[in-house]
Amino acid sequence: MSIVAGVLYVVATPIGNLNDISPRALEVLGAVDLIAAEDTRHSARLLRHFRVQTPCRAYHDHNEQTASRGLIDRLTAGQNIALISDAGTPLISDPGYRLIKEAQAAGIRVEPVPGACALIAALSASGLPTDRFTFEGFLPAKSQARRARLEALAEVSCTLVFYESSHRILDTLTDLADIFGGDRTLCLAREISKQFETIRTASAAEILAWVRGDVDQTKGEFVICVQGAGEETEPDLTEARRILDCLSAELPGSQAVKLAARITGLPKNRLYAMLIDASGDGS
Ligand code: SAM
Repeated sequence: MSIVAGVLYVVATPIGNLNDISPRALEVLGAVDLIAAEDTRHSARLLRHFRVQTPCRAYHDHNEQTASRGLIDRLTAGQNIALISDAGTPLISDPGYRLIKEAQAAGIRVEPVPGACALIAALSASGLPTDRFTFEGFLPAKSQARRARLEALAEVSCTLVFYESSHRILDTLTDLADIFGGDRTLCLAREISKQFETIRTASAAEILAWVRGDVDQTKGEFVICVQGAGEETEPDLTEARRILDCLSAELPGSQAVKLAARITGLPKNRLYAMLIDASGDGS
């Protein structure tokens, strides 16, 4: 009897709320011969919670070459294996690329078991255009390289999606507002499906001021969705006009504009134009 090669399942796990695991994911995790996990200790908690007793082996960026070989051997011998990462969909800013490539090359069937993915969850609730988007993963950690990448992306016309960690969220938001302009709309999605989930869509300047002013907003895991260049919808300027009117009644024009820019996040030249318009000089 010839041995039929096993199946490599790519199984999505929750990104926060454990109830987001699918019945099919649990069925597959319970039925395979082996689970290849990014961090076996981390995944042990998830598997214990769902009473999955399948043995686990580590598969991560540092052992992918040797681990892939061992996994392919087992698959070729007929075993079924599930690949999982610490959270969400494997391979999405997570290990697995080499394993999938080698499995395909060895003629092994690769079957995805879809589920949570932070970028898709964030995008779906962002209020930004979703018909075309570019997923950029993590920006470079070093300031110069990060700014260079953002400069290269500043004119991209579709929605951009980034992952970010708590260590760098303020630096990245600062660079985004600086390079894309404070009035570019973005959505900051923090701790999706967890206790302190916060999803806010506003101008880059507003989001930056908000995060700077509230240390809690710098904690946890983040997805940043940015509206594409030239995709800006005309903001409702009623509130900005009211603020500018109040300030300009009490202060010289330049000071009123400076303060209004800080409060509303709108660029100063736009507020100057509104001031001139209101005084009738612009007609
Ligand atoms: N494979 C995962 C997925 O499918 O989304 C992503 C793994 S990547 C190593 C981890 C990054 O994903 C975090 O730094 C954060 O940017 C994002 N992320 C993961 N879970 C998140 C959550 N619950 N809320 C917001 N962002 C999250």
